[in-house]
Amino acid sequence: MNTTDQDESRAAELYRIYRAHLETCPRRHVGILADCAAGTGLGRAVRNARRSADGGPARCGT
Ligand SMILES: [Zn+2]
Repeated sequence: MNTTDQDESRAAELYRIYRAHLETCPRRHVGILADCAAGTGLGRAVRNARRSADGGPARCGT
């Protein structure tokens, strides 16, 4: 496990970007009706970055 401050700040930065996107984008971002590819990609990036910051393995398909 190699948790670094860099991983955590990256996760925090991605989350800020994601939240800013949610506030400005009128599309749906959760559930099967989600229709915003950019928001979906950002959400996935946030989860991956957090998983990395937690020291867990980065898995695909979530
Ligand atoms: Zn969006």
